[in-house]
Amino acid sequence: MEINESEKLSDFKKDFFEHAQKSSLHKNIIETKGHIVFGRGSDRPKVVFIGEAPGQSENQLGKPFVGRSGKLLDKWINEIKLSENDFAVINVVPIIPLNKENGIRAPTEEEINYFLPLTEKYLQLLNPQIIVLLGRSAASIFDKNLKLGETKHWKNSKLFFIYHPSYYLRNGGKGFEREIEKLKIFLEEKGKQTNLENF
Ligand code: URA
Repeated sequence: MEINESEKLSDFKKDFFEHAQKSSLHKNIIETKGHIVFGRGSDRPKVVFIGEAPGQSENQLGKPFVGRSGKLLDKWINEIKLSENDFAVINVVPIIPLNKENGIRAPTEEEINYFLPLTEKYLQLLNPQIIVLLGRSAASIFDKNLKLGETKHWKNSKLFFIYHPSYYLRNGGKGFEREIEKLKIFLEEKGKQTNLENF
């Protein structure tokens, strides 16, 4: 009997958690009584947004992008008019990276690479038409030299690179509307090519 997509995804989720528990970052979960953060959203998304790693709110709640950056990302998703079934949100590292003072830091290349086989498998299972790379860590798994607004192909998906929402938060939200507009145009063009509704 063929196993269906959501069964594949729940098998994958088990492997994902086992791999994460063996990671050098896992001690952070124990020390903070936090969570390994899997993705959220649809399991048949048209668009996947990839971020960097969980922050404090995500670590506490066990879901990606639920803090300040997440609020901005949700606003963005609303403006693009993606419905709940159309998108998913994941990170390239599913565990909060902490420095010696227990402050948040960016994940290292080694940490991103440790999770890379899982990130790729996850994307292959979700099989979106569009992957939006939020910031450098996400872009680095495909091409370190991607520029703002640049697109590229990966397997069946088209990649679109924009800065991380935290960049726009630091910048008082400046530039964000421009990026939303570009992404909207990009999605509309993609929609026309594939005859998708809701785009
Ligand atoms: N920043 C990220 O990159 N991912 C999250 O889940 C939260 C903040």
